[in-house]
Amino acid sequence: MILAVARKNYLVEATRWSYDSWNIFHRFLGRASLFFAVVHTALYCGYVYEKGENFGPLWSLNYWNAGVAGTLAMCWLAGPPSVRWARQRDYEFFLALHVLMTVGLLYLCFVHIFWMFSVEWLWGAVAVWGMDRAMRLWLSQGATSKAISEIKGEVIRLTVPVGPGKALLKKPGQFVYLRFPQLSWIQKHPFSIAGVREVTAVDMVDTGDDAVPLLNTGKQHQHLELVFTIRPYRGVTKALHALGNTTVQVAVEGAYKHHIPLPDDTVFFAAGVGFALVLGYLRARKGGKAYWAVGRSEDLWAFEELFAECEEGELDGLMINYSGLRMADADRLERLGIKINKSRLRISEVLDEWEQDSLKGEKGERAVMACGPERFLDECRVCVDALDGVEYWEEVSTK
Ligand SMILES: Cc1cc2nc3c(=O)[nH]c(=O)nc-3n(C[C@H](O)[C@H](O)[C@H](O)COP(=O)(O)OP(=O)(O)OC[C@H]3O[C@@H](n4cnc5c(N)ncnc54)[C@H](O)[C@@H]3O)c2cc1C
Repeated sequence: MILAVARKNYLVEATRWSYDSWNIFHRFLGRASLFFAVVHTALYCGYVYEKGENFGPLWSLNYWNAGVAGTLAMCWLAGPPSVRWARQRDYEFFLALHVLMTVGLLYLCFVHIFWMFSVEWLWGAVAVWGMDRAMRLWLSQGATSKAISEIKGEVIRLTVPVGPGKALLKKPGQFVYLRFPQLSWIQKHPFSIAGVREVTAVDMVDTGDDAVPLLNTGKQHQHLELVFTIRPYRGVTKALHALGNTTVQVAVEGAYKHHIPLPDDTVFFAAGVGFALVLGYLRARKGGKAYWAVGRSEDLWAFEELFAECEEGELDGLMINYSGLRMADADRLERLGIKINKSRLRISEVLDEWEQDSLKGEKGERAVMACGPERFLDECRVCVDALDGVEYWEEVSTK
């Protein structure tokens, strides 16, 4: 159960099941475990009753108390406090209690059985969890860095410097967890890497002199800059948006990926800030077929700098379906040579056309990758379902 939701989930690659499928399986296993725990409790109570024993003395025994408390902890973990509604209402509250309850449950399981049964399976669970936590620590970039946060309408463009040697961050389709200590000490939120830049900067020293505060040392150093496009939601992202154009301390943990390497014949669909995941692929593959549904002109602004940095051919297969009213940002992108269709994206029509093209050539591995809000992904999933032999991968992002 713990392995199924590890942050670095190796099961995705091993089984080709998506990260979300493993997440659903985790919930299924949780509910099944709760069911068996309740059946076990009922049968044991029946056994005590059948033997004509009194329940009173049992309350002084550790194994009994741990068993009762463990079943209650499982009711919490797999019951109403963990349903979708509760998770969406306050994700951080759900997460904190879910972790605490899991630690408590593991301890209670030890107390419940160690005097009579083997506990190796419990040590196995502790080891898997420990390894996942250790991996998170290892992937944390250490100190925080000063990021630039720029706002336009309902989007934040965040540029975060990270040390050199983080070559892994350059792979497409990845995301990292960001923590903003100024806004919350413990919360970490996942965001797709929209762009990675290699930057050469001059080292400066603080002179302490007000007239010449910084002195150029003549030395240079290289670092990477990660660019994120963030839609403000309810918690930390809303607070970040409220700060306005500013610099903010950020800690980075990652990178992670939720899907396997995609075949050459892959069509990408994105909506809103979900395009962050797709752009990395277009750049890494020096092109590709991609459709981006945009309703807000500020989303075009958020990616404009990254588009300007693209090399020739990388954006040739990109079609932006822009349904917004303000045309200034769209016109600027058109001048960069990017194709803009001022109408709604029709996913089924695009896929029909792709299917017809595929029938003409050799049939190889094909896939569709979609990234956007849930309703957009629902539509993509239904359309891909109608096709034969096409693998489907998706990543959810805010509207
Ligand atoms: C892999 C991935 C990549 C993403 N990339 C982007 C992106 O590029 N741009 C963007 O705007 N948004 C992205 N998101 C969504 C973003 O993570 C949420 O919008 C953000 O966490 C909301 O935080 P909040 O504090 O403002 O809202 P909250 O009210 O705290 O959270 C709102 C919802 O966000 C989800 N969420 C919050 N924290 C986490 C977490 N630690 N792990 C998983 N889900 C969480 C939960 O479903 C929760 O109900 C991505 C999400 C995932 C899973």
